[in-house]
Amino acid sequence: MGSGFSYEISHRDEKSLARVGTISTPHGQIQTPAFIPVGTKATVKSVLPESMRDLGAQALLANAYHLYLQPGPDILDEAGGLAKFMNWDGPTITDSGGFQVLSLGVGFKKVLAMDAKTFRSDEVIAGNKERLAHVDDEGVTFKSHLDGSMHRFTPEISMQVQHQIGADIIFAFDECTTLHNTRRYQEVAMQRTYNWGLRCLDEHKRLTDVRSDKPYQALFGVIQGAQYEDLRKKAATDFAAMTSSDISYDGFGIGGALDKDSLGTIVKWVNEILPENKPKHLLGIGAPEDLFVGVENGIDTFDCVLASRIARTSAVYTMEGRFNLSNAAYKRDFNPIDDECDCYTCTHYTRAYLHHVFRGKEIIAATLATIHNERYIVRLVDQMRQALLDGNFWDMKADFLGRYKHKSGQSND
Ligand SMILES: [Zn+2]
Repeated sequence: MGSGFSYEISHRDEKSLARVGTISTPHGQIQTPAFIPVGTKATVKSVLPESMRDLGAQALLANAYHLYLQPGPDILDEAGGLAKFMNWDGPTITDSGGFQVLSLGVGFKKVLAMDAKTFRSDEVIAGNKERLAHVDDEGVTFKSHLDGSMHRFTPEISMQVQHQIGADIIFAFDECTTLHNTRRYQEVAMQRTYNWGLRCLDEHKRLTDVRSDKPYQALFGVIQGAQYEDLRKKAATDFAAMTSSDISYDGFGIGGALDKDSLGTIVKWVNEILPENKPKHLLGIGAPEDLFVGVENGIDTFDCVLASRIARTSAVYTMEGRFNLSNAAYKRDFNPIDDECDCYTCTHYTRAYLHHVFRGKEIIAATLATIHNERYIVRLVDQMRQALLDGNFWDMKADFLGRYKHKSGQSND
């Protein structure tokens, strides 16, 4: 471990893998478990960084693929790193770009939403989409979704890009598969991700030494293996033990194909093997009911675009479930979105006003709904952390799920 990064556990749940802790980075601390809002292109769409701080966000996660294409990682480096560039006074995270680059290849929307049973083929391409990415043992060649130009990511390039972007926590470059891939393909991809994991450590060590004037960046390995118990456990065992250039991973991300029904099982397989004293991040999961499953199986941090993405379509969370503000039922509803919410939107605006600005396609609609949804998810995980400390996590979970009406098919956009 390098200077400026650490993880300390302050409390453990007796009945599960859940724990409470603190991640320390050069740009500040994250009290865990925590939800990390996503600002893909170094902005949480429609919301000021100050508002994100006010609503309780402890850190923000951006995407290396998008920032690599625009404005380019050299710009962020010159600006003094991601946090300074986007006026965010706190820790930042980037994901490696592997998911975004590889999803160009198969056109998958969201791994969690996929039905593993429908079909399994390594050649699946959604909706006649052109295949935009090709993976080989050295890396991935892909076509920019912006201008069609050709690019190549390798483990080394991903590390170089993420060092230039300068987030406090960065991820190893991995091959993200889908539930549609065959078992044989999952094995090949896992071996590739293992080899890339070693190369990421080497390049990360080299860059950390070369750029020793920069704040330390923690590197997390990514555990793949789709829905297969043996593959997930092997990946966890391999990455936990992995060392190269005399360094090992500072933490771990759990990624890839995660079916909603098996999410908890898979996370548990992996977290029972990974070292307890290192932080675990669950990549791209953020539906309320899934956050409980993650926390009780030992996840410390989450990121997901869901809360902000659905907010822009007028879908908002409440303690009773989700609803759409555009619905005519809210035209004369002068209550807040959720009368138990303490966010800026709920303390200043009514459903009727929000209905009006959504119907009128006013820009403020996205801002107000995003502030509410991000606050809702950040606070929900904060409440889980407090419940763990108070010893009533399981009662809190039962109360929440008893009230929250989850409509099937709505949680994974
Ligand atoms: Zn609110």
